[in-house]
Formats: sequence, C-alpha cells, structure tokens
Amino acid sequence: MDNRLIGITLLGSTGSIGTQTLDIVRRFPDRIKVVGLSALNSTDLLTSQIEEFKPKFFNCSNLSSQLKNGMIGESKYCSYEDMVTDKEVDLVVTATVGDVALLPTVYALKAGKNVALANKESIVMAGEMLMKIASDNNAKLLPVDSEPNAIWQCLRGENKSLFKLFITASGGAMRGMSDEEKKKITPELALKHPTWTMGPKITIDSATLMNKAFEVIEAKWLFDVAWEQIEVVIHPQSIIHSMVEFDDGSVKAQISPPDMKLPIQYALLYPDRIFNPDLVRFNPVQTGSLTFEPVDVNQYPCFSLGLDYGSRLGTLPAVLCGADEMAVESFLNGSINFSDIPIVIKGALEAHTSLSAKTPEDYLKAAAWGRNKIKEIINIK
Ligand code: MG
Repeated sequence: MDNRLIGITLLGSTGSIGTQTLDIVRRFPDRIKVVGLSALNSTDLLTSQIEEFKPKFFNCSNLSSQLKNGMIGESKYCSYEDMVTDKEVDLVVTATVGDVALLPTVYALKAGKNVALANKESIVMAGEMLMKIASDNNAKLLPVDSEPNAIWQCLRGENKSLFKLFITASGGAMRGMSDEEKKKITPELALKHPTWTMGPKITIDSATLMNKAFEVIEAKWLFDVAWEQIEVVIHPQSIIHSMVEFDDGSVKAQISPPDMKLPIQYALLYPDRIFNPDLVRFNPVQTGSLTFEPVDVNQYPCFSLGLDYGSRLGTLPAVLCGADEMAVESFLNGSINFSDIPIVIKGALEAHTSLSAKTPEDYLKAAAWGRNKIKEIINIK
C-alpha cells in the first residue's frame, strides 16, 4: 500500500454523495486531502465544510456577489475549470445531479485527471465522447455508483473473459403497485426508497427504474460491452450490487450491506482496501434469503424508454436526460402525476430530431431542449 496523499476536488459537496464523500475524508485524513469544494445551493453547509476542510478553492453559484470574488478563510473562489485542473488535484469527484457535471468532467479528463463518477447523467448524455477524451488523455472514469462500482470490483484481476453483466435493481418504492395505486403516489411516498437513502432526483429515478436504464448505459460505456451482454434483475434486498459472468460460466458477485460509503471509499482509495469502522459488515445468516426476479417492463415504462433512447447515438440520450430531469422536478412540485412521468418524457423524445453531437455544448444544448420541451408539454410558463 502506498500512503500517498490523494488530492480531490469534490463537485456537489452538500448533497447525499458529497457529504458521504467528506465522511470518508474525515475517516482517512492522512490519505485524502480536499483541494476544491463546490455546491449549487446550501451555502451555509458549504461554508461550514470550507471552514472544516480548508480547501484551496471553492465554487458556489448561489453565493452573494461579494463572496464570489472573495475568500472564505484561506480558500479562494474559483472557476470549475481551475478547481478541477489544479496541479494538486489527483481525482475529481462529480457528485452533482444533472448536466452541470459535464463540462468540469471534460476539463478534468483533458488535464489527465481521473474522475470518480457519481453523476450518471454526464456519461448517459455523452458516453462516447467522454470515453474518447479519457483514453486520449490517459485518464480514467471510476464509477462510484454502487452497481458499476460492483462490476469494477468483480473485474479486478480479470482480463478479457467478461461474458455478461448482471446489474441488480431494488425495484424502488413502487414495486408491486397496481396502476391505480401508482396514480395516487405523492412525492412524499415516492421519496421513501426501501433500501437506499439518496437525493430526491435519483430516488424518483429509482422508483421509475429510469435510474436502472441509466446504469445500463453507464456500464455499456465504462466496461465496453455490447448491449446484449447486460441483463437487469430485480433484487429487492440490495445486498448483491451487481455480478459479472465470465466465459467459463463462473459468476462473481460483489456483496455488502447497502451503504454508499463503501463504493465511495473504494473509488477514492483504489487500489487499497482499508478497514473502516463506520461501515456495517455483512452477516450472511442475519441477512437471510437473497431473491431475484425479472424486470416487469409493463410496470416500469421508463425503463424501456430509457434503454431505447439512451442507447442511441447523437443528441437523443441528452434529450432523455434533460426531459427526465424536468419531468421528475414537475412530479416533485406537484405539476404532474407519477404515472405521467413516462408519458411526458416519451412526448419530448418523439418530438426531437436527433442531431450528431461532437462537443460538450452540443450535448448541453440537447439536454436544455429536453427540459424546455417538457415544460411546453405540461404547459409550465
Ligand atoms: Mg445505483
């Protein structure tokens, strides 16, 4: 084990993954140093994080203009580009929701920095472009999300014999509900995920299974497999985080109690595995049965929709991301029902003429188009 200090810039430090990333930093202060912190809102929490971790840089779009050109203690306000490419940065953690992570991810990869990817929208929107920029600049995209992180762990030490990936899904808060019941789902109900505690956008995406479609797309790009080599299975206990089948028929599974701190720690400290007393250990007897079911695609229209449009090239995957973001936001603020989410997203996708996309701006424009189309469909002024 080398005890090199790893410098990180953490984008989205006040959200669910962001705060858990800082818990890992607190646990291993001699291994990880915070160079940059950013948040969109939550200025009070960001300020207290800056006071505690004393990063070289910070960024927050909602700070008062006074602070925007100033300092908090010794920490200096700075652009995303400068905070992800600084020479002290070894790893950029993208823990923001939506497409704000795309440009900083591009800047980081172009500067040869590894990116721990907790934001799946960027890779869903622009997977082909990001993988190319990463390989051109000898940088790596390291998955933080528990399922691709599990696959990454299973592939450790294996070479070219990957046969198939099994991505597991809990099924979310609405598993087994009838169509009638789904119509009455309130945002409060939908936000209660059975096994994971996460931010609101991803919790709703888990309930619709759009999140799982995004993970399939993420896995396709990260592990360079064909679509047919990926299968999703419902595993309500969320103990097996994904599995890899090899050419000889052997299957490896990554098992641990559902806690995002483990995949975050793995991505931050890779290749080291270090004891962390904060993590609950796996107990097979107490855990009991592990069960699996096929995905009932009729129950989860967003799953097929996401896979269909997210697997295409050009601007459609970015439109999908933008449309999903606005549809989820509209459900959470009471503008549409839960069962309207796939209907409005489909409306936006069908109205879009796919264009070829080459630059990050092309993808961002398409995502914005998707958001606006949803507003138009549900008539939000
Ligand atoms: Mg996941």
